[in-house]
Formats: sequence, structure tokens, C-alpha cells
Amino acid sequence: MSVRYRCRHCEVEIGTLPFDADDTIRKLHIFELGEADDYVEKDQHGQTTVHCICEQCEDSLRQYPDYHALNKWIQ
Ligand SMILES: [Zn+2]
Repeated sequence: MSVRYRCRHCEVEIGTLPFDADDTIRKLHIFELGEADDYVEKDQHGQTTVHCICEQCEDSLRQYPDYHALNKWIQ
């Protein structure tokens, strides 16, 4: 099962890993992002989704850091 990367802010799909890298993802991201469970989600079909941030949202955060507290500001 592949691993999907999705932006946690605008929900755009950033990319897909064509193999099940669930354990690797958790090890990779746990130090960088904090609690892996907040970012890595596995659904009932075994599909793993990593909620990260896309370039566009990263730029917005850099420009408007006040919005950082908001989980979602792009409608
Ligand atoms: Zn985004």
C-alpha cells in the first residue's frame, strides 16, 4: 500500500510513495514534526496518509506568520 502526502492546510495532494513505508515515515518525521500520530493517519483500507505542508502554504506561513495558529485558512 502506498503512502500519500497531503497538505494539512489546503488538502492538496503533494505526492505519493509507491510502497508501504509506514514505519519509515514515522521514524523519519517523529523528530521533525513532533507527535507522529498527529501527522500520520492510516485508514481502514491500510492507506497511509501523511499530513504535511505544501510549498504554497509554507510560503503563506512565512509571509503571514500570524496565521500559523489557524489550522485552515484557505477555503
Ligand atoms: Zn497547502
